Amino acid sequence: MAGVRSAAPQLADIEPYDPKYIPAEVMISANENASDVPFDLRREIEREVRKLSFNRYPDPLANGLRDLIAEANGLDRDQVIMGNGGDELLFNIALAWGGPGRTFLNMPPTFTVYKNNAQLTNTAIVDVPRRADFSIDEEAVIERLSQGDIDYTIVTSPNNPTGNLVDTAFVERMLQASDTLVMVDEAYFEFSRLTARPLLGRYENLVILRTFSKAFSLAGVRMGYMLGSETVLREFKKVRQPYSVDAVSQAIARVVYAHRAEFERGIELIISERARLLDELGMTEGLTVYPSDANYILFRLNDGVDAGEIWQRLLDAGVLIRDFSRAPGLENCLRVSVGSPEENSRFLEELRKVLK
Ligand SMILES: *Cc1c(COP(=O)(O)O)cnc(C)c1O
Repeated sequence: MAGVRSAAPQLADIEPYDPKYIPAEVMISANENASDVPFDLRREIEREVRKLSFNRYPDPLANGLRDLIAEANGLDRDQVIMGNGGDELLFNIALAWGGPGRTFLNMPPTFTVYKNNAQLTNTAIVDVPRRADFSIDEEAVIERLSQGDIDYTIVTSPNNPTGNLVDTAFVERMLQASDTLVMVDEAYFEFSRLTARPLLGRYENLVILRTFSKAFSLAGVRMGYMLGSETVLREFKKVRQPYSVDAVSQAIARVVYAHRAEFERGIELIISERARLLDELGMTEGLTVYPSDANYILFRLNDGVDAGEIWQRLLDAGVLIRDFSRAPGLENCLRVSVGSPEENSRFLEELRKVLK
């Protein structure tokens, strides 16, 4: 037996992604939309999918979708690129702007995928940690960018898992501080209604990431997109898998995007349920809740209470949320996604029982 030689050395410190997605009665752990795509849209999707030739390769760039998204954002087709979920584009920024001898600036705690992708591509990581309240240390970031050696950075607004927004004036200062490629990850912008889009025409070093997975109920379909300058997106086209966005997903996303106005009521409900959850958690003893502009809320259990144990007891009661209690900077923290009104009430009820 020859066995197998070891994998590339940069994999040694990486854990395979495990969202602990355990079946439960109430699934409010992954920031998904609690409502599936409405029935009438599903009917239209079925009609569109029936028209496809499965034996043919899909349109590699998904131009039909790019045109819809470009038009909605007042841009040209060449300023939009599609990805197999936002996650593919997060990998592609590391491939295109990272690599050996290149540097990524991260602002932890934030989405851990950024750091993983930098490690996978042998990109050096410079951390500028957030403050105790999870706000960005803006002066430290600007100072570090001004040194001129950062190749790309990603700023998440609202940030996952902490829920707070990034100030648009600060994004503009980042864009002016150097020629670093700045990605604003707006995976949850539909719940905050704040976007860096107005800065796009003025800064070639800005790209904006969006997804169909949260507001548009398509986490299972895998569709994301990025807005940016034609020059920057041309580099992304070089690294992308030519057929990463399949024909079925393209058809589904086209129907959903064309009918995106129908998702507005659901988004409004999530925003009002978020306010209710923030209120109720704020009145719950034994924890600190952090403000959120997204469809999830982070909270920290008081000293003396083990968040991991609370997480397990909630699961035993049928409620799955997300445990961040062992993540650096998020000690003793849990994150709950905003579910349907019934799911949120059930969560609050079980949490209070467990905390007693
Ligand atoms: C969910 C999410 C994404 C994209 O998710 P996809 O399902 O791959 O589109 C990107 N960034 C953040 C911070 C997210 O939470």
